[in-house]
Amino acid sequence: MKAMRFVSPGAPLVLTEVSLPSPRGHELLIRVQACGVCRTDLHLLDGELPAIPFPVTPGHEIVGTVAALGPEASEFRIGDRVGVPWLAFTCGECLYCRSSRENLCERARFTGYTRDGGYAEQVLADERYCLPLPAAGAAAELAPLLCAGLIGYRAYRLACLGETVGEPRRLGLYGFGAAAHLLAQVARAQGVQVFAFTRPGDTAGQRFARELGAEWAGGSDERPGEWLDAAILFAPVGALVSAALGCVRPGGRVVCAGIHMSDVPAFPYRLLWGERSVSSVANLTRADGREFLSLAARLHLKATVQRFALGDANLALERLRSGALEGAAVLELPEA
Ligand SMILES: [Zn+2]
Ligand SMILES: [Zn+2]
Repeated sequence: MKAMRFVSPGAPLVLTEVSLPSPRGHELLIRVQACGVCRTDLHLLDGELPAIPFPVTPGHEIVGTVAALGPEASEFRIGDRVGVPWLAFTCGECLYCRSSRENLCERARFTGYTRDGGYAEQVLADERYCLPLPAAGAAAELAPLLCAGLIGYRAYRLACLGETVGEPRRLGLYGFGAAAHLLAQVARAQGVQVFAFTRPGDTAGQRFARELGAEWAGGSDERPGEWLDAAILFAPVGALVSAALGCVRPGGRVVCAGIHMSDVPAFPYRLLWGERSVSSVANLTRADGREFLSLAARLHLKATVQRFALGDANLALERLRSGALEGAAVLELPEA
């Protein structure tokens, strides 16, 4: 089978012929229909994640159909459509696993990072971490739900739950890409007003945000005329922490949703004063996955996608890096 492999630091991905793996234990062999391109993949390529096991196949927003079952696999059948997210394995024994926080598992493995991912024609995944997906619908439009949507939703819950019951809730989203364009739809459906912050001067991105129902859209150097209750940072820019703190009201929260961020510059304590808080969000739990996918189906979330062939993964990544995308980039594989 063909895979786009990350073979050495600083080098682009290489289209490689690799032998077809066979599933062991609880593994499924999955024929990939589509795989989303995530900001995390860029952090991987830029060497910003620790202990990268070269060579590795990136990709953790995988939609595909089950092609073969490991001897212990029993949850899915051949032909079922499944989603493979970032969380690939947890130990089940550590402090975090035993307290419903498997997203923080000390021995977790991750799809497209510490095990091979979906920038490939086929992929192996442990069925206990796969999510059932509907057979209908374009695979490319489901793929962004599996990380951008899912981990974005974990950040959204952390930002919004328990906040300001009974008054309009206002949520800032910094970086209006794959995750924010899905979350804006969730927020709107739940009566939360969205304030979209893009790169300064990105009028196309601001227009896209308004089309998706944003109350306000502007540059990340601007301030809306009213306090925000919370803000989520999807752009991996440390300087946005103080920018966002400057826009949230006392008691408000700033959530950093990326796996990597540039250093956070010093800022005056008064920005944090008033019981404002800053938090990160790490990974996902399987319960997050099930909850978000059922919400996405109920709300009919619509992903805006730009499709690329597997062999054009480097192009898709460059488009993502330059901010030239509307919505999410997805690698789409031809039907077998
Ligand atoms: Zn664990
Ligand atoms: Zn991701």
